[in-house]
Amino acid sequence: MSGPAVASDEDLPRWVSEKRAAPVYARPVSDSFGVTARDGTARAGILRTAHGDVRTPAFMPVGTKATVKSVAPDELHALGAEIVLGNAYHLHFRPGEELVAELGGLHRFMGWDGAILTDSGGFQVFSLRDTLLAVDDDGVTFRSVYDGTPERFTPELSARVQERLGSDVAMCLDICPPAGVPQPELEEAVRRTTVWAERQRDLPRAPGQLRFAITQGGLDGELRQRSSEALVELDFDGYAIGGLSVGEHRRPMFDATTEAAGFLPEDKPRYFMGIGDPEGVLEVVERGVDMFDCVLPTRTARTGSALTSEGRLNLRNARFAADARPLEDGCSCPACSRFSRAYIRHLVNQQEILGLRLLSLHNLRFLLDLVAAARQAIERGEFLTWKDEALRRAKGADE
Ligand SMILES: [Zn+2]
Repeated sequence: MSGPAVASDEDLPRWVSEKRAAPVYARPVSDSFGVTARDGTARAGILRTAHGDVRTPAFMPVGTKATVKSVAPDELHALGAEIVLGNAYHLHFRPGEELVAELGGLHRFMGWDGAILTDSGGFQVFSLRDTLLAVDDDGVTFRSVYDGTPERFTPELSARVQERLGSDVAMCLDICPPAGVPQPELEEAVRRTTVWAERQRDLPRAPGQLRFAITQGGLDGELRQRSSEALVELDFDGYAIGGLSVGEHRRPMFDATTEAAGFLPEDKPRYFMGIGDPEGVLEVVERGVDMFDCVLPTRTARTGSALTSEGRLNLRNARFAADARPLEDGCSCPACSRFSRAYIRHLVNQQEILGLRLLSLHNLRFLLDLVAAARQAIERGEFLTWKDEALRRAKGADE
């Protein structure tokens, strides 16, 4: 026990030494999800990962390039985040998964010891339509957004990138068409997403890594059912509802979410990809979604706006020039505990980076608090009443 290698491993935090274990090739974590409370179709639960438990419903701040823009990991913890999202596409090109692996994996690289979910890269490849070159059953060829060179993603490469990054939840590479594509294209996306999921099912994983499949089908109920049944048959650790929030109207999107969630097993986590506005989050939670991610809190911050329980505040507005109140009464974020709207408005108008940082911290806190309150409302069995009241307040003062 006293050899130098062991001694140096013992000096490291447990989450680092765990990452040094060899890759595993079988289902690593059993009972990785449990529902703890139900209220209608809404549910609260716990996702157990190699880097700690995540209480659901869970909002995942987006750290595409291994950073939640301008927010440090200790700040994320203090805000209440338990899981963040990283992206296989971007990290594959910059700085490269082998470099990250060499430096101890993504957790160590970015200094975050909580859970990480990595997106497969499918959304980036298929949403940047003008960089797409060819799709076939084997994979997809596209031009890299970094330097325009032709690159190829296959299910095997995406799984390999995520295994090397060492994320806690890896997503299957899927085909995510934008809203309104012709029916044959939607059908083909469902078929290929299934073929690819089959190939990814048993590929090597990082220690303890969970793997989620992504259902497709857009707003088409029959296709969504076909996609869901095929993927559920393959028995993944969790399922994402993909191909929504891609430009369609909100009401049909929520209806499709109700339908899509109904095709998924009760005992596995459900992840709605790409929703983060307060109304959208509460609507999908009501429909039985457990996890979601969105850049909205940090992107909104960079436009100079704050999310509050009474709607969005545009801090550039002159009416805040002498406003001594915090962004949100009762908020305990670093912005609200020390600074006035007037001061933050001044920072935003002078393009001082502290202004954007304070707004990012506040907006993340607002959304994490909102989701925590939703979870508590589910546990009390009062979700619908609580939600209606929250949305009524938010609409009252929206600009
Ligand atoms: Zn605040």
